[in-house]
Amino acid sequence: MLSMKKPAMLSLYAALTITFIRELKEYSIFSLCKWWIVSLTNSLLSNGLNGKKRRPFNWPRIFSFMDDLISFIETINKEKWKSEEVSLETGKLLYKNTPGFIEYIPHHSDSALIMAISVGIHGNETAPIEIVWDIIQKIKSQRILPKIRILFIFGHPQAMLAGKRFLGFNLNRLFSGNHKNFKEYLESERAQEIEEGLTRFFSEANESSSRWHLDLHTAIRGSHHQRFAVRPYYGRDLDVDQTELQICAAMGVEAILKTISPATTFAGFSATHLKAKSFTVELGSVAPFGKNDLSCFAMAKNTIIHILKTGLIHELPQETKPLVYDVKKELINDHDDYEFYIADDYLNFTPLTQGQAIEKNKEGILEAKKNQSIVFPNPHVPQGQRTGLLVQPQGHIPDC
Ligand SMILES: [Zn+2]
Repeated sequence: MLSMKKPAMLSLYAALTITFIRELKEYSIFSLCKWWIVSLTNSLLSNGLNGKKRRPFNWPRIFSFMDDLISFIETINKEKWKSEEVSLETGKLLYKNTPGFIEYIPHHSDSALIMAISVGIHGNETAPIEIVWDIIQKIKSQRILPKIRILFIFGHPQAMLAGKRFLGFNLNRLFSGNHKNFKEYLESERAQEIEEGLTRFFSEANESSSRWHLDLHTAIRGSHHQRFAVRPYYGRDLDVDQTELQICAAMGVEAILKTISPATTFAGFSATHLKAKSFTVELGSVAPFGKNDLSCFAMAKNTIIHILKTGLIHELPQETKPLVYDVKKELINDHDDYEFYIADDYLNFTPLTQGQAIEKNKEGILEAKKNQSIVFPNPHVPQGQRTGLLVQPQGHIPDC
């Protein structure tokens, strides 16, 4: 150690200290100490005590947060998944029969709230998976003592392991029974399994309980509003209510997209079929496991932890004042000569210019009206599927 060159040692310690401070916000002291020892030992064993390069040293997987998570994801299938109950002082953690479903039930609760949080419905949207995994570890070690029944759902494990959005068909278009129409894809079976698992979870709740479902995603495309939520259709036109605004504001959501027709998304299923208050929440950008800037997701994580600890929504800190957008039209690739004119580098919610051509559908060229914008533009879909949503903030009257 003493013979290691001084500048090399200084830069090693400087790099470790900077990373240590960055990680401080996200991890417990225990994890940090463990991480510090592992990092330092890895460096010394890889570089040698005197600075000479040696072969890379791989520390046992057990010590890494990320490797633990990957190992867990590898168990989410019918062959490896084992249902079990972990008894804790204030409740129990259940690994349910449905692979990838983990539920916490407190021994005592006076909260009317019951919540499901799903992640990884798109496999490459990893930040919410990391957040939820960390929260589960904290529940297990009793650093978080939830006051409510909560279900965590890890959506598409095969796609997570492959680092892909999906493998055969977009899982988030197969809910509300649409999986029956696409039985040839592996996502079809998973969609059905998830629907049944979530239905069981909510059916075990008291009729008067307040049901919530947050389906957490990250977006492929950049957005004019960094964080936004899609609020599904509840079977009738309902205004976004105060608790919905509060939960979104606490997560730092800048825009709420209020949809006007039933959707085959997961959040659409829980809203329409299970009477849950439900959101698809887009929290930031897609990145591989371990490459997420978790500070961008801290508000969402803190919101979930706050709800778990208090069982309340109305006391949440209000970080933003979300704008509510109405969907004016679902854009559909509706015929052989369909054309879509939105640029590939368009950011979600960027206002279009009045008269700007959006698409050529069966009826002709659709042009933008004042203050309108597009969300989820994607022309590369089979005929019959959605190429985007045409939206407009509430309070803006379109010029005809
Ligand atoms: Zn997604």
